Amino acid sequence: MENAATRLAEVRSNIARVCKPARRKPEDVTLIAVSKTHSPEAIQPLIDAGQRVFGENRVQEAQGKWPALQEAHPDIELHLIGQLQSNKAEEAVALFDYIHGLDRPSLLTALAKAMDKAGRQVPCFVQVNIGDEPQKGGCPISDLPAFLAAVRSADIPLAGLMCIPPADTEAAPFFAFLAKLAADNGVTGLSMGMSGDYETAVMLGATHVRVGTALFGHRG
Ligand SMILES: *Cc1c(COP(=O)(O)O)cnc(C)c1O
Repeated sequence: MENAATRLAEVRSNIARVCKPARRKPEDVTLIAVSKTHSPEAIQPLIDAGQRVFGENRVQEAQGKWPALQEAHPDIELHLIGQLQSNKAEEAVALFDYIHGLDRPSLLTALAKAMDKAGRQVPCFVQVNIGDEPQKGGCPISDLPAFLAAVRSADIPLAGLMCIPPADTEAAPFFAFLAKLAADNGVTGLSMGMSGDYETAVMLGATHVRVGTALFGHRG
């Protein structure tokens, strides 16, 4: 049976393998281990294997399990990868080191206020609705330049762009499009790629991949 350390080594070696033809350095790709729904007991073996960057998609769930793990391992870096409600901005700013779901002016205002109050600047990825899906979060593509200008003038550290491509279709064109939007807008970070497509994302320039199932197995 595969354990967490084996799976971590596999994912890391897959990233290194695709970096080669893409002429990229593996250390320029941050692997975010997405631990949502998994218990501290399931997370610990990955920490023991050296993983230090983790992602959660719910503020409340993360508040329940991460403070104790962070106390034991102060070098852990925690990313909020899911949608964020404005009324949770203060809690998110207090707990997370990066926030990936910045996608609308009301949330920008709430985050700027929360960071100001906490005296803590949390770098944010602007999520782009890359497939123009009405039911999905993310800044509309046509609004992106104006929204990025608002983020920059709000003095929030801009970590990059983030996307979740439409399900059940080839992700590569959407990753390539996000990379182009980033280049066009002078943004360097790219949070894209999950268990099924992180290698493709790395070939197309991802600086952050968000991998859950390939590291933890299926969520219960
Ligand atoms: C759950 C989740 C992931 C990880 O998905 P896997 O397919 O399990 O790797 C990545 N990004 C976001 C935004 C998620 O919610």
